[in-house]
Amino acid sequence: MPSLLWFVYFCAVAGIYLHIPFCKQQCTYCDFHFSTTFDAYRQEMVNSICTELRLRTSYLEGKAIETIYFGGGTPSILTKQELTQLLQTIHSNFQVKEGVEVTLEANPDDISKAALREWKELGVNRLSIGLQSFKEDDLAWMNRAHTVNEAETCIQLAQSEGFHNLTVDLIYGLPNLTMEEWRNHVQKVIDFGVPHISAYCLTVEEKTVLDNWVKTGKIQPISDEAQGDQFLLLLEMLEANGYQQYEISNFAKPGFESIHNGNYWKGEWYLGVGPSAHSFNGTSRSWNVANNRKYLKAIEENETFSELEELSIENQFNERVMIGLRTVKGVDLNELATISALPEAFSLKKQSFIHDGWMTQHDAVISLTKEGRLRADYIASELFM
Ligand code: SF4
Repeated sequence: MPSLLWFVYFCAVAGIYLHIPFCKQQCTYCDFHFSTTFDAYRQEMVNSICTELRLRTSYLEGKAIETIYFGGGTPSILTKQELTQLLQTIHSNFQVKEGVEVTLEANPDDISKAALREWKELGVNRLSIGLQSFKEDDLAWMNRAHTVNEAETCIQLAQSEGFHNLTVDLIYGLPNLTMEEWRNHVQKVIDFGVPHISAYCLTVEEKTVLDNWVKTGKIQPISDEAQGDQFLLLLEMLEANGYQQYEISNFAKPGFESIHNGNYWKGEWYLGVGPSAHSFNGTSRSWNVANNRKYLKAIEENETFSELEELSIENQFNERVMIGLRTVKGVDLNELATISALPEAFSLKKQSFIHDGWMTQHDAVISLTKEGRLRADYIASELFM
């Protein structure tokens, strides 16, 4: 069966992603879309996102909503009333599955007993905390809005308020982060009993403050080797403590995997609303304008606010390879061949990666070894059509 039909036929559930483009301050490494001056139009933004939800009700063709994800930006900046308005708009315009996973990204400085209670009341059942580090100096140069004390207390507070489906973000590969410090950060999260961890290697994104510091020599990035050692230490510690690495940057105790992100990786459909949000419906991707003013104006004047790309066979093939190699599931070559016959170069490269110890093959499924996961993007790009 051709792959596109396969997707359309079997994808019965879908997700909604809401991009909240506000942040209190700009973290030095961040290239996501957000604005730090939004007081004058925050209500207008919430209204516009609700309008977009109504305008795009048919995008998911009636599929049941299995996950709702508030990302950003900093969704924890939103008031109870603003979150309620967004959730009510979803519930009155889409078929939302019972037990829907509702994730809210929250920064430690926004987490209080009162906020946690409000979120719980609204149906948020998964909290994603942007912790990043337990080292004061690193939080300061990254220009995070919270302290180590806030990072530590917010986890306990969230747990005491009944948020057991909890994930935290950590960053490694920072210029002055020693192996010992990194070991302590990971150990702390394990000791707190957090069941899901997303760990990202610091990358220098263009046009960020960090990019400028690196270019002007203010900061010396650490070597790839040192970053690789921190990644391997992370794998070793989390594996020994019952976490499974189900995607390159994501680790979960059994039953705590992110359904929302898991669905992205399975190729399920999702609707992304708000400035810069992306959407996918099996045959095409679209992305909204990454500019708050332009987005508001376009919604108000009923003009186009997104671009669309129909996925070519090549795109689909490469995405399957990239996503499959990043996840524990690997790439099923039989499934891949339904998109396109495997090129000869693919088979040759695959054999050489297996020979190098970076990849294994069981029946028709290829997946990366620990050493392979260190260079996942490179390996995937070598196998692209
Ligand atoms: S809070 Fe998050 S989205 Fe906002 S600037 Fe910092 S890293 Fe970026």
